[in-house]
Amino acid sequence: MSTTILDHPLAADLLTVLRNKDTHPPEFRQIAERLGYLLVAEALSDMSIEVVDIETPLEATTGHRLHRPVVAVAVLRAGLGLLHSVLTLVPDATIGFAGVQRNEETAEPMEYYTKFPQLSAARVLVLEPMLATGGSLSWAIDKVKENGAKDIVAVCVVAAPEGVKAIEETHPDVRVVAAALDRELNPSFYIAPGLGDMGDRLFGTL
Ligand code: URA
Repeated sequence: MSTTILDHPLAADLLTVLRNKDTHPPEFRQIAERLGYLLVAEALSDMSIEVVDIETPLEATTGHRLHRPVVAVAVLRAGLGLLHSVLTLVPDATIGFAGVQRNEETAEPMEYYTKFPQLSAARVLVLEPMLATGGSLSWAIDKVKENGAKDIVAVCVVAAPEGVKAIEETHPDVRVVAAALDRELNPSFYIAPGLGDMGDRLFGTL
């Protein structure tokens, strides 16, 4: 489908705070959540809406409501950093989890846990903040598709060109929304310049 890189001064400002190595977990989590609002708004920007009749305090009029349910699937564990953003914007969203661990030598994804709500009628947002090789995201998209998802948007903070290419090849029907497209993957499969390990930055692990 397509890749959308946010073009917004607020997104650039927030991402710069995330990239800074001196931003510690409490602030990092807050800023990730705020950037998440912009990413999620973009990921839902083409949602179908239905017209509803309502009354304002002044008169009868028509309004719009989201036509389809929203599901967020957090790719563990970094995806948890964007979960609050979805739930704040769409409190009715249901939540799935895709537990995948990166093999540090091969960078291949290894599953350890999955749990999904009803996916077939929903807009499914797969939350994978760091799109590096694309292995974990491609694996998570395979899983949600196996469980019925048809309308999928991947929500990322930083994407590497290698990861974007991998998703375009393996899942051409999936739209990717990210706050930045970075230069490259380094030999350890980290995105450069990137922001380091998103899970460690969120949760203060080493
Ligand atoms: N996962 C991360 O958290 N950071 C990277 O740079 C790549 C993968």
